[in-house]
Amino acid sequence: MKNRELSEIFDKMADILEFKGDNPFKINAYRKAARVLKDLTEDIEKLAREGKLKDLSGVGSGIAKKIEEYLETGRVSKYEEVKEGVSEGLIELLKIPDLGPKTLALLHKEMNIHNMTELEEALQSEKARALPGMGAKKAENILRGIRLLKESGGRIPLGVALPLVNQVIELMKTKGIVREIFPAGSLRRCRETIGDIDLLATGKDGTRIIEEFTHLPVVTEVLAAGKTKGSVITHGGTQVDLRVVPGESFGAALQYFTGSKAHNVRLREIAKSQGLKINEYGVFRGEERIGGSTEEEVYQILGLPWIPPELREDRGEIDAAMKGSLPSLVELSDIKGDLHVHSDWSDGSATLEELAQEAKKFRYEYLLIADHSIAVRIAGGLSPEELLRQIEKIKKLNTKLKGITLLAGTEVDILSDGSLDFPDEVLEKLDVVVAAVHSGFKQDIHTMTKRILGAIENPLVDIIAHPTGRLIGGREPYAVDLNEIFSRSAATGTALEINAYYERLDLSDLNCREAQKRGAKLVISTDAHQPNQLDWMRLGIAVARRGWLEKGDVLNTLPLERFLNSLKR
Ligand SMILES: [Zn+2]
Ligand SMILES: [Zn+2]
Repeated sequence: MKNRELSEIFDKMADILEFKGDNPFKINAYRKAARVLKDLTEDIEKLAREGKLKDLSGVGSGIAKKIEEYLETGRVSKYEEVKEGVSEGLIELLKIPDLGPKTLALLHKEMNIHNMTELEEALQSEKARALPGMGAKKAENILRGIRLLKESGGRIPLGVALPLVNQVIELMKTKGIVREIFPAGSLRRCRETIGDIDLLATGKDGTRIIEEFTHLPVVTEVLAAGKTKGSVITHGGTQVDLRVVPGESFGAALQYFTGSKAHNVRLREIAKSQGLKINEYGVFRGEERIGGSTEEEVYQILGLPWIPPELREDRGEIDAAMKGSLPSLVELSDIKGDLHVHSDWSDGSATLEELAQEAKKFRYEYLLIADHSIAVRIAGGLSPEELLRQIEKIKKLNTKLKGITLLAGTEVDILSDGSLDFPDEVLEKLDVVVAAVHSGFKQDIHTMTKRILGAIENPLVDIIAHPTGRLIGGREPYAVDLNEIFSRSAATGTALEINAYYERLDLSDLNCREAQKRGAKLVISTDAHQPNQLDWMRLGIAVARRGWLEKGDVLNTLPLERFLNSLKR
C-alpha cells in the first residue's frame, strides 16, 4: 500500500517548509494529510480509483491532486519544488526524533550545520548549548535521538513489513508458478523491527519465478536477478530477497534462513555431536542426505520437537525442547475480546456501534471501550460528565447488540503526581479501568516508578496500558523500575498490557517474559483508533509468543464472565 509512502512525503514537505519558515497554515495542512494517511487502513489507491479521496477529513482538492499525481507518476512535483535549495544532508537530519525543523534551522543558521557529523560535534559545544531555546538538556535529548535513529539502521516495524510481504506473496501466488512461498528470517520470527525481508519459494522454473518477482508492481529497483535468487528494493525503500529452492530442501532452507544465527549455531553443535551435518540443503550423515524436506524432519532427526519460529533466539528454547518443556504458546484464536479501543467520543474514528460490529467479525465476546480522559486534551479526552453519558449509551446499546458485549471503560490518565484523572465515584461505575501515562515522560526513575505504582496500588485500576511508553524508532521507554512494576502488579492483581499498536508493542517480548516470571497477569489489546486496526491483535500475539506466554498467562483469552471475575475488583 502506498499510504505510508505518501504520508512520509507530506510529513517531509511539512518539515522542510517549517525549516524554511514558511506559512504555518500550509505546514499544518500537510501535517494533517500525513497523519490521516498514516492511520488510514484502507488502500489509498482503491479510494482514489473510487473517487473518494476528498471524503477523507484533511484531504482537500490540493492534497488530493498531489496524491493522484503520486499514484500515477511515482512523484509529487510540489515536493521536488519544496526541496529545492535544501541539501540531502539537511533533509536526513529532519528524521531525528527530538529535533524539530525550527531548531534545525537555528543550528543551520548559527552554527553552519549541514550533516550528521557536524551536528553531533556542534551539540557537544558550549556555543550550541548557549543558543536561545537550546540548553544542555535539549542538546542531550537531540544526541539521544541521533543514537536512536542510528540504532534503527533503516529497519522497519513488523506492522509495516507484514502488509508488504503479504502483498508480495499474494501477487506471486496469482502468477501460478510457485508451489510454496513463505517468509523466513526475522519476519517469520516476528521480531519487532525487520531489516531485509527474506522469502523462500519452490517451483519448477526458477528463472521464470525470479523474472516475475523482479517485475512486480511494488518493485522500484532490481539489485540482482539470477536462476535461484532475486533481490529488489520496493516502494518505501525496503529490500526483499526471494530464493527458489528445490522441494527436497525446502524444510532445511526454511529452517536455515529463518534463523536466528544464534539458534542455528546451537543446532549445528547438536548435529555435530551426533555425527551429522545440517545446512540449507538438508541433514547429512557423511555424504548421505537423510532429511530436509520439512522443518519438522530437520528437528526430529536431531531428536527435538519442532520449535515455533518466535522462540528461535537462543533464549533457552533448545534446552526446553530437549527436556520436553517448550511452552504451548498463546494463539490468535484464543483471544476472546479486545480491551483497549478508542471511539469517536475521543480521538477514534468510529462510533460505538461500528466498533461492536467490527469486533463481531473477529468472533470476540467482548470489547472494552477505553476513550481518553480529559487531561489528554489533544486526543479529545472525556470529562466526567461525558464519560457518565457514555456509560449510559453503552448500557442501552448492549440491550440491542447480539453476539457481543460492549464493556464500559476508560484509558484514564495517570497524572504527574500519580493520581488519576477521574474521581473514584466515576471510576467505580465502569466495568474495567485502564490507566496510562501520556505526559511528563522525562521524569526521573524514582518519580516515574512511584507514579505508576500509585495507579497499580489503586484498588480501582485493573490494567496498566503501554507500561513503558516507548515508540519504536521514535521514543525510548521512560525511566522506570520495571521489576518493581511487575512484582507489585503480581501482588495486587493489576494486569499489564501488551499494546499491539504497531509503533508501540509495549510491553516488549523480553519485558512480558519477565513480567510473567514474576507472576504478573497480562492482557493483549490493540489501542485501535479505527475499526480495521482491531486486526493488529496479531502483532500483540506475536510479541506474547516471543515472550513465551501461554493462553493461561493472558486474561483476555477468558470468556466474559470468567474474565470479569479475574480482574482485581
Ligand atoms: Zn494511551
Ligand atoms: Zn489508547
